[in-house]
Amino acid sequence: MDLKKLEVWLITGSQHLYGDETLRQVAEHSGIIADAFNHSTQIAIRIVCKPTVKTPDEIFRVCSDANISPDCIGIITWMHTFSPAKMWIRGLNVLHKPILHLHTQFNRDIPWSDIDMDFMNLNQSAHGDREFGHLLTRMRIDRKIVAGHWQDEKTLDQINTWSRAAAGWHDWQGARFVRFGDNMRQVAVTEGDKVEAEIQFGYSVNTHGIGDLVKVIGQVSEESIDKLVSEYEEKYVVSDSLRKGGQRHDSLREAARIERGLTAFLEEGNYKGFTDTFEDLHGLRQLPGIATQRLMAAGFGFGAEGDWKTAALVRAMKVMAAGLPGGNSFMEDYTYHFEPDNQLVLGAHMLEICESIADSRPSCEIHPLGIGGKEDPVRLVFNSGEGPAINASLIDLGNRFRLLVNEVIAVAPLRALPKLPVARVLWKPYPDMRAGCAAWILAGGAHHTCYSQNLGAVHMQDFAEMAGLEFVLIGKNTDIYQLRNELRWNDAYYSDERKAR
Ligand code: MN
Repeated sequence: MDLKKLEVWLITGSQHLYGDETLRQVAEHSGIIADAFNHSTQIAIRIVCKPTVKTPDEIFRVCSDANISPDCIGIITWMHTFSPAKMWIRGLNVLHKPILHLHTQFNRDIPWSDIDMDFMNLNQSAHGDREFGHLLTRMRIDRKIVAGHWQDEKTLDQINTWSRAAAGWHDWQGARFVRFGDNMRQVAVTEGDKVEAEIQFGYSVNTHGIGDLVKVIGQVSEESIDKLVSEYEEKYVVSDSLRKGGQRHDSLREAARIERGLTAFLEEGNYKGFTDTFEDLHGLRQLPGIATQRLMAAGFGFGAEGDWKTAALVRAMKVMAAGLPGGNSFMEDYTYHFEPDNQLVLGAHMLEICESIADSRPSCEIHPLGIGGKEDPVRLVFNSGEGPAINASLIDLGNRFRLLVNEVIAVAPLRALPKLPVARVLWKPYPDMRAGCAAWILAGGAHHTCYSQNLGAVHMQDFAEMAGLEFVLIGKNTDIYQLRNELRWNDAYYSDERKAR
């Protein structure tokens, strides 16, 4: 995933009123700002400076071009001078890409001793951007507003955060996700309206019977399995029984066969993620464990028990976080530690935690699963590092989707966990265990999430704005009384058919 292949267009608004010299300076300044953004290590995507727009037709054209450009993930707008906003109506009416309104000014400081009317004519964003902003508010267009000098680190950081969110959103458009089998029987939160998701989010979810995958797995060559087994032995601490000559080596080979087959299926179908369920594994000897863990690390989305919404979310978050240290993984709130004054959640799954969040070289082990009635699956076992993180959950409320984020702080395990045969994370939810868990449940959050070490609440909020998603944050300032009201007010807001789907 190379985010530098993606473009954000910097579109500067003006009008013909000011004459050629001013417009020349406007264009020059826009170019300087775009260059600075491109030379900044803080911004992950490429900024493309577009010619200054001065008429309704130019605005309509650049918005139309942005829509159809396969690499343009969003636009940054800036009104260096005044740009009467009615000129923007036609363009904004057709624009389908996310907008960041950059409210900046070329000069950082007022040139106290030199300032004259020429300077005032050129540097008008303080009021020009207000005219533009008014129209977007009037048109009810969701956008990000970044206010500050363009050389300020906070400004760059906000632009980068939004750009990463836009990259995730862009990745969803036309994306394909495959479900092997259906949903885990009787489970509510992993279900949802796939037609509505495709209309709102742009990705499609379709099912293949597990037999289709079994067939591809059956075609994997022994040489290809040999190679992958050596890779496992090089990369992980493989337990003795799984090693060549070991009693269970055949199970490791089977795990490698499953990984090769799954990879081939996903690549041939151009899929960006998948789901499976332990209730439907006909013809598979093991529930995919290490295969799923490694495919996630390679960038594929995953959701267990048919959870396609989480699979798509994991994928989007992996794209948003591309190149950042730390990882993103499918996750489940598994077990609690209710020790007074040190309350913790242990996050894990039956097998499928992404190795991108491992704090050291994972060990490759085999243990019984306990459910599903299949052979023992091979899996990677590891701890995950401490530090700030988030859990994000996308749920279907019947009339709309809700994106829920809980800020957490991960902590190192208090003691060794020698008998726990799965990868795990320990965290404390904000604002605290009592309120954090209650808030999550009140908001209807799923037990499945995407756990992220390198994205923050703002990435997800920016993403939600682009997706037209309700966004609920459970963080340091969450208060249950306030949250209960917020959820009720949101219900009223989304009872409007234009907001709900
Ligand atoms: Mn689960």
